[in-house]
Amino acid sequence: MGNVCTLSAVELCQALRKGEVSSRALTRAYLERIDALEPKLQAFLTLTPDLALQQADLADQVLFEWRKDTARLLPPLTGLPIVIKDLLCQRGVRTTCGSRILENFIPPYSATAVQRLLDAGVVTLGKTNTDEFAMGSSTENSAYQITRNPWNLTRVPGGSSGGSAAAVASAMAPLALGTDTGGSVRQPAAFCGVTGLKPTYGRVPRYGLIAYGSSLDSVGVLARSAADAAMLFQHMAGYDPLDASAMDVPVPRYSLQDKRDMRGLRIGVPEQYFITGIQHEVEQAVRNAITAMQGLGAEVVEISLPHTKYALPVYYLIAPAEASANLARYDGVRFGLRVDDPNMTALTRKSRGAGFGPEVKRRIMLGTYALSAGYYDAYYGQAQKVRTLIKQDFEKAFEQVDVIAAPVTPSTAFKIGEHNEDPLAMYLEDVFTLPANLAGVPGLAFPVGFDGEGLPIGMQLMGRHFDEQTLLQAAHTYQLFTDWHTRRPEF
Ligand code: GLN
Repeated sequence: MGNVCTLSAVELCQALRKGEVSSRALTRAYLERIDALEPKLQAFLTLTPDLALQQADLADQVLFEWRKDTARLLPPLTGLPIVIKDLLCQRGVRTTCGSRILENFIPPYSATAVQRLLDAGVVTLGKTNTDEFAMGSSTENSAYQITRNPWNLTRVPGGSSGGSAAAVASAMAPLALGTDTGGSVRQPAAFCGVTGLKPTYGRVPRYGLIAYGSSLDSVGVLARSAADAAMLFQHMAGYDPLDASAMDVPVPRYSLQDKRDMRGLRIGVPEQYFITGIQHEVEQAVRNAITAMQGLGAEVVEISLPHTKYALPVYYLIAPAEASANLARYDGVRFGLRVDDPNMTALTRKSRGAGFGPEVKRRIMLGTYALSAGYYDAYYGQAQKVRTLIKQDFEKAFEQVDVIAAPVTPSTAFKIGEHNEDPLAMYLEDVFTLPANLAGVPGLAFPVGFDGEGLPIGMQLMGRHFDEQTLLQAAHTYQLFTDWHTRRPEF
């Protein structure tokens, strides 16, 4: 076999079954690639090569036994390497959330999504970089390092799942887990030219996902194609009694058809997502992709999501408010970093002061303010009401159309340091991704072109609650006809 790292995850699973490659050889190939590229990219916070090789050897044994008797049950992803955003707990593996406050935290349990994948047979290579507690759009808020965009090392990979996106784009892993509270799977997917799925809120259990904004958080997938994303997502989705918001909705088989047309699909194009200020090449590439889908038989309908402009202020009240409550648990007493002081209050103050970075502190202050007596109704309460209007926009639109097409980001990957001095400019990067989280609907980002500087451009499709299938199938059909998703950055 040539360079195994260039195969798709679907192909790798087949090659493993057929015995064309062993999981050990595959795992070693990825670990070698990581050794070579990681000094430039800085995508990982923790690497677990020993654990990965142990898992790989076990997988090879399971595959060997299975080949002798294929009537046996074989865990579906046996031997396939993946990487995990460092916001998801993996038992026995350091999980930092990109924060100093959890620098030495080794969780005694695995997140449900991680455990399900381990049960399905995956090999875990390591934990990927993230903005601290997933607050950010560039990984620049990580307390440890800034991940670089593999397409251009002076650019950010996006965030907060920037490590995962960079790892998949540079083929340091075929698949990665990410999380998306306001765009953190889709935006880095767009910036790095990979496919990123943010499932419906409640589709993948949040148990073991360290909480940021609990009414918005979701666990998603970064992959090289819709077909690869579907394969991983299949084994993460579904009800979990450990998460009260995990919905008991049947999980279909996400078997994507090699369907060569899009007849019967109604695509809504919301005017509010094609506004002035958006980079011309981004708009053009997204419009071209919509035209291509129309050429494949899809019906294109102009729609309106009138409350879109409120998504940004609503999100930046609700997410920090929930974060301020969720992050109260890091008190220097129960776990995480502790700066000792005989006085309890001082101990907590000093521990939090030393453990949290500036953006996290800003969000805690914003959120605490929005929740405080006298302001609660004016800010948090009001934001919740407007959130309902945003959700209703989507419900109305989905009476008319099956999916909604939009850009993922107003521009391609920005420069490292470009938004350092201006948090608001950074928040504005999220305008097109926040609404799906506020409405709880699924969103899929995938590459549809490149700008003049060779940076990838992403497009997103949003769908009805629990209808990830339609999004994945539409992107898969598009990917059968296009090669944006197969292009790789050169080193
Ligand atoms: N960029 C957004 C934020 O900073 C979204 C992050 C996310 O989805 N985790 O909150």
